[in-house]
Amino acid sequence: MNHKKALSNHIFQIIGQCADELQIDAYVIGGFVRDYFLNRGTAKDIDIVAVGSGIELAQKVASKLEGKPQISVFKNFGTAMIKHGDLELEFVGARKESYHRDSRKPVVEDGTLEDDQKRRDFTINALALSINKSSFGALLDPFNGLKDLDNKLIRTPLEPSITYSDDPLRMMRAIRFATQLDFVIQPESLHAITENKERIKIISNERIVDELHKILLSKTPSIGFSLLHKTGLLDIILPELTALQGIEEIEGQKHKDNFWHTLEVVDNISKNTNNLWLRWAALLHDIGKAPTKRFHKKIGWTFHGHEFVGSKMVFKLFKRLRMPLNEKMKYVQKLVMMSSRPIILSEEHVTDSAVRRLVFDAGEFVDDLMTLCEADITTKNPKKLRKYKNNFKIVREKIIEVEERDRIRNFQPPVSGEEIMETFNLKPSKEIGIIKDAIKEAILEGEIPNEYEAAKHFMIKKGKKLGLTVN
Ligand code: ATP
Ligand code: MG
Repeated sequence: MNHKKALSNHIFQIIGQCADELQIDAYVIGGFVRDYFLNRGTAKDIDIVAVGSGIELAQKVASKLEGKPQISVFKNFGTAMIKHGDLELEFVGARKESYHRDSRKPVVEDGTLEDDQKRRDFTINALALSINKSSFGALLDPFNGLKDLDNKLIRTPLEPSITYSDDPLRMMRAIRFATQLDFVIQPESLHAITENKERIKIISNERIVDELHKILLSKTPSIGFSLLHKTGLLDIILPELTALQGIEEIEGQKHKDNFWHTLEVVDNISKNTNNLWLRWAALLHDIGKAPTKRFHKKIGWTFHGHEFVGSKMVFKLFKRLRMPLNEKMKYVQKLVMMSSRPIILSEEHVTDSAVRRLVFDAGEFVDDLMTLCEADITTKNPKKLRKYKNNFKIVREKIIEVEERDRIRNFQPPVSGEEIMETFNLKPSKEIGIIKDAIKEAILEGEIPNEYEAAKHFMIKKGKKLGLTVN
């Protein structure tokens, strides 16, 4: 069967023509072809393999394209990249690879198309379509990748154990594709990943995190995290999470399994947000529970202060994985730190002042915090579920109401420190802090509105109580 339809973009004819002129065979291969057969839309990064020099082919293509696109040549790797409109064209010469044990950098020599397909990670990523004129659109599929696409199967072209040991990043990629595509990893492959899990240690943290991001951004991230768990990779990459696994029972009292609970929360939140960092917050929101877990005879299991401990752990985890230690991390920390607040609110009668305090503390992140906490409701008790959901609705409504009235979200003290000093003829002193704090408290408690006149009036009253006289 011919698959010209996949190659409807005119660019493929141009590349094919250049290949014909150079008298070499050229193919589009990898993700683009896979995604075409999966109806995932057309990928913007396109991998071209030439049986010959990929760099020469790229140079010829660039010279024929309108607007003289940028071309980047990586001589050492024998690859070249062209940016053309929104397309990224990656050219490489067909190659044969062999590996040494201590590195994922192979020894490379020129090879046939089939050699090149063999070095690909999965059969579904080894599909190639010819783009030379005489065979335009012909599919080359020596490892039955098309069948695996049909069967939703992740399988390696060669022996799985060798494939994963050669380049352990492929273990992460297997799990990532299984998650993104909702595919099953072939049992031999899964076994080989488990056997080779320790080899993940030769992969840079940046690469690992890239794959984690992709897993987290999938529709159902729990698929990936349970595979990472099952193969033992998670214990190496994110031991903070595996530490949450298990149910302990003392004197007939059990706590829930916080690992599986966490995965449920991540799946829940993924229905409501594509914000990667909010999804990270969901993944990490309970990590403080492992180190804070205690059993008390009278009250059972507690995790006192797990939010604070968890937010400290976020820093260490980001640092270890070389993730950014910037405002993204602070955002995740803050959400972890506050992750129980709305829950506590929703368990009891929701008061205005409690909502004002929540908004004050969460500031601009209050909506994301609510999204996190709603995802955190995993109770299987329908009565409780209804109660929590309903209370959350009330909290959300009150947040809007309180915000319209009191503008707490980006709270600025309505009376400045200078004005307090002038009014009472004070030098910088602790009384100023006390008065400022009392004003803030009165606003949050709803004793006075967040307005200048009311706050000034309150300030004078408070100052007099402290024994100060008005200037
Ligand atoms: P996506 O771009 O959607 O993440 P992709 O399959 O295109 O998926 P890329 O990382 O763009 O993935 O790689 C392009 C192709 O290169 C893959 O389809 C695969 O054939 C090959 N490839 C990438 N990384 C590896 C690897 N670590 N080992 C073997 N082959 C790989
Ligand atoms: Mg790609």
